[in-house]
Amino acid sequence: MINRQRLAGEFLRLVQIDSPSKQEGAIAQYVRKIFESLGAEVIEDKAGPFIGSESGNLIVRIPGTRRDLLPLMFNAHLDTVEPGKGIKVIQEDETFRSDGRTILGADDKSGIAILIEAVRYLQENKTAHCPLEFVFTVCEEIGLFGAKSLDYNLLQARMGYALDTSSITRIINGAPEANSLCIKVQGLAAHAGLEPEKGINAIQIAGEALATVQLGRIDHETTANIGLVRGGTARNIIPDYIELEGEVRSHDRRKLADHTEHIRGCFERAVLAYKEKHIPPFEKGGRGGILKGGDFQGKRTADDNLPAWHMEVVTEYPLMTVDGSHPVVVLAQEAGKILGRQLTPEKSGGGSDANIFNAHGIATVILGTGMQSVHSTNEYIHLEDMVQTVQLIMEIISTYSRS
Ligand SMILES: [Zn+2]
Repeated sequence: MINRQRLAGEFLRLVQIDSPSKQEGAIAQYVRKIFESLGAEVIEDKAGPFIGSESGNLIVRIPGTRRDLLPLMFNAHLDTVEPGKGIKVIQEDETFRSDGRTILGADDKSGIAILIEAVRYLQENKTAHCPLEFVFTVCEEIGLFGAKSLDYNLLQARMGYALDTSSITRIINGAPEANSLCIKVQGLAAHAGLEPEKGINAIQIAGEALATVQLGRIDHETTANIGLVRGGTARNIIPDYIELEGEVRSHDRRKLADHTEHIRGCFERAVLAYKEKHIPPFEKGGRGGILKGGDFQGKRTADDNLPAWHMEVVTEYPLMTVDGSHPVVVLAQEAGKILGRQLTPEKSGGGSDANIFNAHGIATVILGTGMQSVHSTNEYIHLEDMVQTVQLIMEIISTYSRS
């Protein structure tokens, strides 16, 4: 039997240790102590100083009784989002929530508590099992930085499970690739009341471009957003600069590239349209129709080539796609079946550590722990869902260990 009260107690202790991203020192120390006391080898990699966190990633090695098998990997992240300091848990029956001022931190402390209970259970029941590698990452929430800088040479596992989604009947085997975009438009400042003719309004140009950009759900597997705008200096100054940040995600690399290109095209056309409209005709003719720069009221030369623009594209995380027939999926489904549960493969709309593990050749799918309304002060979790997740993990380990 799984010890429900022990699992609940561990979960409560974990969520009460503050661990916003980059401040994972205390939680890492706590997790290390627990696994060391259970006889596991705990290694901290060198990612901490590299990404500016108090701690590196923790790799916990639990030797198996079936030494001939490759280890199975299980992953959870140590960090939480804000507001996540001084969490006070309200417990009603077997449901945990915060007092409404903070998140609860079930994302992803439920995953950590579940793995701790799984190891305690294995040891108490002297269950035969394969070697296990647990990877507890830092800075997942702010850009998967821990997983991105993890020392993969420390891992032997070729497949594994990340405990980091809500529904306990879900296997997430696909997640999009994402591009983050930073778009800069350079105009020209001028006093808005005294000499507006001399200015180039960067905000307005960006606005013209944005009006033509397709945002939101582009199709069943592609989304796009512009989520941040910075620009302008004063009410009475024509803004010479605007910066926009956004993203495109898709489960299809081609569509990701195409939509990123679409956004690029919108800004390019808006800037060209501005030049076309404001450049004097003689200037146009003189350049053989090539538009270059705005000569406003004939007072400026075209050589400064304003307005200008630039778009920077960074791959935020790579595509995650694990085939439905891959052993990592089949194993979880078989384990579910033994417990009388049907686990369905699904695609997710967001990136997580699993994207990075897959990119490093560890076939990883995501399992739910029961965490609900995550990243909000309404976050909650039912103990029963955590108990069932421990059961599923035990069954995955035993089924694999019988192979
Ligand atoms: Zn998470």
